[in-house]
Amino acid sequence: MRAQPQASHYVDGAYVEDPEGAAFDSLYPATGETIATLREATPGLLDRAIEAARRGQAEWAAMSGGERGRVLRRAADLMREKNEELSQLETLDTGKAIQETRVADAASGADCIEYFAALAADMRGAHIPLPNGFAYTRHEPLGICAGIGAWNYPIQIASWKSAPALACGNAMIFKPSEVTPLSALKLAEIYAEAGLPAGVFNVLQGKGALGAALSSHPAIAKVSVTGSVGTGARVMGAAAETTKHVTLELGGKSPILVFADADLDAAVSGAILGNFYSTGQICSNGTRVFVEKSVRAAFVEKLCERAKAIRIGDPLDPQTHLGPLVSKAQYDKVLAYMAAGREEGATLACGGGAAKVEGLENGWFVEPTVFTDVADAMRIAAEEIFGPVMCVLDFDGEDEAIARANATDFGLAAGIYTRDLSRAHRMAARVEAGTVWVNAYNLTPVEMPFGGVKRSGIGRENGREALSHYSQVKSVYVATGPEEAPY
Ligand code: NDP
Repeated sequence: MRAQPQASHYVDGAYVEDPEGAAFDSLYPATGETIATLREATPGLLDRAIEAARRGQAEWAAMSGGERGRVLRRAADLMREKNEELSQLETLDTGKAIQETRVADAASGADCIEYFAALAADMRGAHIPLPNGFAYTRHEPLGICAGIGAWNYPIQIASWKSAPALACGNAMIFKPSEVTPLSALKLAEIYAEAGLPAGVFNVLQGKGALGAALSSHPAIAKVSVTGSVGTGARVMGAAAETTKHVTLELGGKSPILVFADADLDAAVSGAILGNFYSTGQICSNGTRVFVEKSVRAAFVEKLCERAKAIRIGDPLDPQTHLGPLVSKAQYDKVLAYMAAGREEGATLACGGGAAKVEGLENGWFVEPTVFTDVADAMRIAAEEIFGPVMCVLDFDGEDEAIARANATDFGLAAGIYTRDLSRAHRMAARVEAGTVWVNAYNLTPVEMPFGGVKRSGIGRENGREALSHYSQVKSVYVATGPEEAPY
C-alpha cells in the first residue's frame, strides 16, 4: 500500500521537495509497512515559507472578510466532496478505523472551515462613547501563525488551527506530526483549489526541531500547538523570547462522574466512547471513571459485556470498531501501562494485553482494557496513557467525587452522569475543566469553545472564542471636541 505525496512540503501555493532534508517514513499502523517517504524541511525552506507567508498574508488580509469567507466556504465544500479519499488516507496514516475517519476527521474539519467562513464575514469591533468623542476597536490579524499538530486527529487539528487563523486574515505555516504527515498536504491542495492566495497556508514536514524553530522564529507572531504537556511548556518557553501569542491544546486525565441516579446504560456508552474511540488516543478522554459505590458492580458488568463485543481488526474494514495504535512507540507505552496496572494491584476486569488480528500480525493492536479497584495514586490513574485503558474508581457523595476529580494537574474535560438537574449544574461549576459534558461525552461541535485549564492548556479552539486567539485589538480614539493642553 502506498500513499506517497507529490512532494514532502507545500509552500507558496505548490508542492516542493527539499532534497537536503533527512528522509523519514510514514507507516501504516495495521501492518507496519511504509506508505510514504518524506523529507524534513531544512532552515532554507523554512525561510522560503516565511517569505511566502509574508507576501500571502498581505494579499489575504487586504481582502474583505466576505471574500475570505467565500474562499473558505469553497474549501469546506471541496473537503466534503473528497471525504472518502481523505478518510482512506487518514486511516492509512493513523490506523484509525474507517468507520470513524469517515464521520469524524475530514468531516469535522469541513464543519470547522464552514463555520469560520461565516464568521470571517462578520468580524467586528466595539464602539465606545466617551465624554469628548468616542473610541472604536479593530480586530486585526496577527500576521504569520505557526500550527503544530499531534498525530491523533491530523486533518482535524490542521483545520481547527487554520480555519480561524485564515478567517482573521493571517497566514499559517503548519507542521504536522512526523508520525502522520500526509493529510495536511491534502488540506493545502484543497485551500489552493478553493482560491486561497499562494503562501497563505503552507505545510512543512519535520520533527521536534522544526516545531522548536517555528516557536522561536522572530517573523512568526503566534504559535498554536496540540501535543503533550511537556511539548506545550517547551513551545511556550521558546515563544516567550519574541513575545508570541500561544495557544496550547495539551493532554489530560479527565474524570467521568457517574452518580447512582444516572441512566447507567448512557453512562456506560459515555465511558466507552470516552475511552475506546480512536483506540483511546484522544486528549479529552475520560480515563478516570468515578462510579458511585451503590451502582459500581452493575456498571462494571454492563461495561465489560460491551467492551468484549468491540470488534478489533483491519481498520479499512467498515465493520471494524478498533484499529491499531498509531506507532510501535505508542504500542510499547500502552502495554507497559497495562503491566503497571497489574503490578500496582488494580483488578483487570477485561482486556489487558496485545490483540492478535489474523493477517495483520505486525499491527500495533491492543485490547480495550478496564481496570477496577484502582487507587488515585496508581500510575494508571494519574498519568496520561493515550490508549484504550479505562480506570474505574468508586466514591460516596458529591464532595468526595469532586475533591478526587480535581486532584490532578490536568484540567481538559469532565463528564457528569446524573438525572438530578441541580446536581449536574453544581458539579459542572465545581469541576476544574475547560469542557464539561452532562449526560454525554467527547462531543466537540465547532460552535463550542474547546481547550483546557491548569496544565492542560491555554487558549481555546473553536467557537467565536477562537477568533480572539488569532486577532489583536487596536483601539482608535477619536476626539469630536476641542482638546485642551495643560501647558
Ligand atoms: P507531542 O507533544 O510529542 O508532539 C506534538 C507536536 O509537537 C508534534 O508535531 C511534534 O513533532 C511537535 N514537537 C515536539 N517537540 C517540539 C518542540 N520542542 N517544539 C515544538 N514542537 C515540538 O505529542 P504527540 O504527537 O505524541 O500527541 C499526543 C499528545 O497530544 C498527548 O499528550 C495528547 O494529550 C495531546 N493532545 C492534545 C489535544 C488537545 O486538544 N488538548 C488533542 C490531541 C492530542 P513530532 O511529532 O514530529 O516530534
